[in-house]
Amino acid sequence: MKSPISRFTVSGNSMYPTLKEGQDVLSINWFVNPKVGDIIVLKYLGRELIKRIEKIEGEHVFVVGDNHDESTDSRHFGSINIDNIVGKVVYGPNDIPCTNCDSPVIGIYGRKDAICQNCGFKLSCCGEP
Ligand SMILES: [Zn+2]
Repeated sequence: MKSPISRFTVSGNSMYPTLKEGQDVLSINWFVNPKVGDIIVLKYLGRELIKRIEKIEGEHVFVVGDNHDESTDSRHFGSINIDNIVGKVVYGPNDIPCTNCDSPVIGIYGRKDAICQNCGFKLSCCGEP
């Protein structure tokens, strides 16, 4: 089973100014309902890309980078199947939802275990503190 939360380092400027090159973000990998406006990590040709969902077309999503001039995205390679979505990007400690109850879980970044104070669910994360 894949980890509920993982860490990615932003590469390139395709999501500028929302995300900057070299910035670390976390992704929640258990979310199941992609929505228009969500920023997601997706797999494309063996690489992981970070893009924003612009349209949902059944089992496919059309994704674009916020920096339209410097992004290679669905405008070039078309919509992607939702199976290629790795996770949803969150980038503030208060934005990390419990994968069980959706309450914010503070202080999970860089820890192997954090406990949701609302429901007691244990979440594991990624990377070094
Ligand atoms: Zn919880």
